[in-house]
Amino acid sequence: MSAAGEPGLVVIGGSHAGHQVGIAARNAGYEKPITILSDEDAVPYQRPPLSKAYLMGKVEREALYFRPASFYPEHGIDLRLGVAATAFDNQTKTVTCADGTELPYEKLVIATGTRVRELPVPGADFKGVSYIRTLADIEAMMDGLDTVKNVVVIGGGFIGLEGAAALRTMGRTVTVVEMQDRLMARGVGETVSAFFAGHHREQGVDVMLSTGVESLAGEDGRVTGVNLSTGETVPADLVIVGIGVLPNQEIAEAAGVACDNGVLVDEYMQTSEPGVLAVGDVTRFSCRFMEGTVRLESVQNATDQARTAGATAARQDKPYDTAPWFWSDQFDLKLQMTGLTGGHDREIIRGDVKAGAFSVFYFKGDKWLGTDTVNQPTDHISSRRLLDAGYALSAEEAADAGVSLKELVKSVRKAAK
Ligand code: ADP
Repeated sequence: MSAAGEPGLVVIGGSHAGHQVGIAARNAGYEKPITILSDEDAVPYQRPPLSKAYLMGKVEREALYFRPASFYPEHGIDLRLGVAATAFDNQTKTVTCADGTELPYEKLVIATGTRVRELPVPGADFKGVSYIRTLADIEAMMDGLDTVKNVVVIGGGFIGLEGAAALRTMGRTVTVVEMQDRLMARGVGETVSAFFAGHHREQGVDVMLSTGVESLAGEDGRVTGVNLSTGETVPADLVIVGIGVLPNQEIAEAAGVACDNGVLVDEYMQTSEPGVLAVGDVTRFSCRFMEGTVRLESVQNATDQARTAGATAARQDKPYDTAPWFWSDQFDLKLQMTGLTGGHDREIIRGDVKAGAFSVFYFKGDKWLGTDTVNQPTDHISSRRLLDAGYALSAEEAADAGVSLKELVKSVRKAAK
C-alpha cells in the first residue's frame, strides 16, 4: 500500500453505497488511501430494519452495522464519522469538509444518497413528528414510544406502510393517510395496492386513500392531531411522515457535475467530470430495463453500483447491468419486486390473491417488464434471473401456471452455455 497522505479515493457518504465502494475498491485491488466521509455519527448501518425489526426492538443497534468499526482501519480504510463534505473542486482535486479541513483526492465518489421530503404544511415542526430515514430519526422516535397511543402515518408508500405495520403490531392505533387513490402507487400495480390496503385494514389499520393533509394540530409545541382535506381531524401523539425523498445532488451540481433529478452516471458509475464517480440513491442512469433514465432507491442498486464503482476505481471494467429488485416486509407479508414496471398496460396473475400468495407479471404490449410477488419467493428469484438473462417471457407463459419459471431459468442457462 502507498504512503498515507498521498491522494487516493475519497468517498462522500457512508451509507449502503458509500461504505461498500470503499470495501469494493480495496477488494478490486485499489492500493492508494481510501477515505470515507460520513456526516452521520454511526458506523455504516443497514437502513431496511429501521422501519421494521429495529423499530420493534427485535435487533440490537450493533446488529445493524455492516461491519464492526474495527474492520475499516484493518482494511486501510479511513472512516471519518460526523464529517460532512461541503464542496469539492475537480480542477484542484480537493474536497472541503464542514470543519474546514481540505482533503486531496485522486478519485472521488459521490454517495450522498437522499434526504426526506419534508411535509409542506403548517405544524410540521411540532414535537412528535418523525421521519424514518436515519438511525438518529428512529432512535429519537423510539425514545418517546411508550406513551404513544395514536399514530398517524402520512404517505402510503413503502416506508410509511412498513412503519404502520410495525406500530400496529406493537398495539398502537394506526391511521395511514395517502394522497393518491391507492397504496405504493410508485412501485406496484393495482392488484398489489388493493391487496395491501385490504390486509392493513384486516390488521386494524385505518387506511385513508385520496386524502390530503391540510395542517397538523398541536398544543404546547407537541402534535395532537392531523387535520385532513376532508375537514376531519385524526388524533395523534405520533405522526410519521413518509412522503418520499430527494437526491442530495447539490455538492455535485455546485462542482459542475451534470445532474437531472439525480447525478447522471454511465454504466461504470462515471459522472460527467473525469475521475468523479457516483453511486446509490443519488444517481440517475439509463439501463436496458426501461426507456429513459431512472433513479432507484434500493439496497440492490446501492450494492451493485458500489461494486462497479470500486472496480472502476481499480481500473477494471465491470459495467452495471443488474435487473433491479426491491422488497418490503409488512406484517407477515413479503412483497418482492423485480424489473421496472411503471407504464405497464396489463397484469397477469398467478396464485391466490385472497390467500396472500401470488405473483403479478406486468406487460406493456407484448413486453414483459417485471414481476411483483407476495409470499412467493421462488417466482421472485426466477423472474430476476430471467430478466438478467434478457429472457422475453410471453404473456402465455406468464398466464400458464403449468410453465415452471424455475425450469425456464434452467433452460435459459443451458442455452447460454
Ligand atoms: P417511500 O419509498 O420513501 O415510502 P414513496 O414515494 O414510495 O416513498 O411513497 C410516498 C407516498 O407518499 C406516495 O404514495 C405519495 O403519494 C404519498 N404522499 C406524498 N405527499 C403526501 C401528502 N402530502 N399526504 C399524503 N400522502 C402523500
